[in-house]
Amino acid sequence: MTNDCRTLLLDGATGTELGRRGVDITSTAWSARAIRDAPGVLQEIHEQYLHAGAGAITANTFRTHERSVIASDLSGAAKLLTREAVQIAIAARDNVQPAALVFGSVAPLEDCYEPHLAPKFDVCKAEHAQQIERLLDAGVDRILIETINIQHEAMAAAEAAREYAPGKWMISFCTLADGPPGTLLSGQPVTDVLPQLSDAAAVGINCVAAPAIAPHVRLLRALLPDTVEVMAYGNIGRVEPSGQWVQTDAVSPDRYAMYAQQWRDAGATIIGGCCGTSPETLAAVARQLGPTRLEGENSRA
Ligand SMILES: [Zn+2]
Repeated sequence: MTNDCRTLLLDGATGTELGRRGVDITSTAWSARAIRDAPGVLQEIHEQYLHAGAGAITANTFRTHERSVIASDLSGAAKLLTREAVQIAIAARDNVQPAALVFGSVAPLEDCYEPHLAPKFDVCKAEHAQQIERLLDAGVDRILIETINIQHEAMAAAEAAREYAPGKWMISFCTLADGPPGTLLSGQPVTDVLPQLSDAAAVGINCVAAPAIAPHVRLLRALLPDTVEVMAYGNIGRVEPSGQWVQTDAVSPDRYAMYAQQWRDAGATIIGGCCGTSPETLAAVARQLGPTRLEGENSRA
C-alpha cells in the first residue's frame, strides 16, 4: 500500500455512458463497439472523468476478450481492439492528466450477472492470461479484474495476473446487494478466496447498488492484510429478476457521493463509479472526498 493515505479516484461508467451519448451498446459487442464506431466519444468520456478528478481511468476492454469478440458482431481482431481501446485511454490520459493511471479491464468471460455460465478453471485461466498479456503489451499501468461473480473464475484470473503482472493487479467482485455481506452472485462467500488474494494491490466490490456497498467494504477491510487496498465502485441502479432496471436514490450525484464517503469511512481507498454513473457523479465524489492522490508518473518512471 502506498504511504499516501488519500483516496485514488477511479473513473465512472464507460459502457452506460456511451449509451447515454447515443452510441449503440445494445449489440452483443456492448461497449466494445465504440472502439471502432465512436472512438472520439470514448476518448471524450475518459477525458471528462479526468477533468472531474479521476486519478485512474479504465480502458474500454470489458468486452474485448477473444471469446467476447468472436461471439459478437464485431469484425476486428480481439487483440487489435484491445490495443486500440488502451491507446484511446492513454491518449486521453496524456491530454488531460499525465500523472493518472490507465487500468486494463478484465471482465468475466461470460455474462457478468450469470455466474453459472463461467467456463471451467483451466479455460478461465488461459483466456484471462491471454487478455492480461495483451493489455500489458498495449501499455496499461495495472490490471483491473472486475465484476467477478464466482470463486473459481476469480482464482483463475488472479493466478494469471500474478504470473504476468506481479504487484500490479487488482480484483473486484460483484456481490448480492441484498445477501449477507461478501456473498458473490454465485451464492459463494468471497471470504473463502480472500486468503489467496493477499498479493493483490487491491480487492474490491463493484457493480453493486451504491446504497448496499458499505457493509461489503467493511468486511473486506477487516479480513485483508493492510498491504492490500480496498476498492469500491457502485451502480446507481440494479436489474430486477424481471429484467427491469430499477434506479436507486444514488442516481443523484450528491447522494452517490454520500455513499462514496461511507465506503471511505469503511476503509476503501480506491473509489469510483460503475454502471449508470457519469462525469457529474464523479465530480460530486471528488468534491465530497477532498484531495485525492495521483501516482501514475511515479509508477511509470
Ligand atoms: Zn457496472
